[in-house]
Amino acid sequence: MKALAADIGGTRLRAALVDSNGEILDRRDGLTPPDPLDGIALLRSVWNELGKADAGAVAIAGSIRSSTGELVQSPNLPKWEGARLGAELSCEVLNDANAAALGEAWVGGLRGTGAAILLTLGTGVGGGILLDGRLWTGATGAAGELGHICVRPDGPKCGCGSTGCLEMYASGTAIGKAAGAGDAKEAERRARAGDAKARAAFDAAAEALGIVLAGLVNAFNPEAIAIGGGMVPTFDLLAPRIEALVKARTFRLAREGLRIVPATLGKNAGLLGAARAAFLARG
Ligand SMILES: [Zn+2]
Repeated sequence: MKALAADIGGTRLRAALVDSNGEILDRRDGLTPPDPLDGIALLRSVWNELGKADAGAVAIAGSIRSSTGELVQSPNLPKWEGARLGAELSCEVLNDANAAALGEAWVGGLRGTGAAILLTLGTGVGGGILLDGRLWTGATGAAGELGHICVRPDGPKCGCGSTGCLEMYASGTAIGKAAGAGDAKEAERRARAGDAKARAAFDAAAEALGIVLAGLVNAFNPEAIAIGGGMVPTFDLLAPRIEALVKARTFRLAREGLRIVPATLGKNAGLLGAARAAFLARG
């Protein structure tokens, strides 16, 4: 079996033909058109080029109504809001971080887990929850927006309308800003060189992550938590403080055997997760 998969982000559109072992057979990477009609046309032609498949799925940055495959809300792709991708492309549609969780559980860092959580730290903070080996998308499809769990009610205003969300502290954007660096890469370089402000930015991110993950551990009692997204190379800077906070704030039984690990699929996580969703929908 083969699946056509796509991962549509705020900047890049990735598409691939994937086999049922999670092998990417062929792929095309490009820029995401600002207009959804152009985007859908582009994806149709790219999928056509990639060849025939038994199933298809699109992962996209935003909330997806699970009953219709409609993109309801997307801060990164505002013009795409309302696009009925599922109907237009006759395929499954899922949130990109949810897809990444599914991909990591299939052939990545969360392989073999029944209950697991993925947090993606990049421009924003996304999440995915897996329960009994299946993606938990909730009543309407919006589950897993873990980046918008409030850490500090008196914190900065977030793009989602709330204040003090995890994303305001732990995204690459937030870490770069707090470190007084141009971007997250520069913040990492400075933190590793011992710069106090950059170290404090990583500590603040790890503290926010630890608080949120402790809550999630108490709520879901997962076997594993993976940290993914563009900040994966900084896992070692974040993990000790996250682990200490999770230990301090959870029930012993809830954290028994818990593993906190880096995600392993990199930029392919969403694409592979979309393929997995396509295969699962086929049954
Ligand atoms: Zn928010």
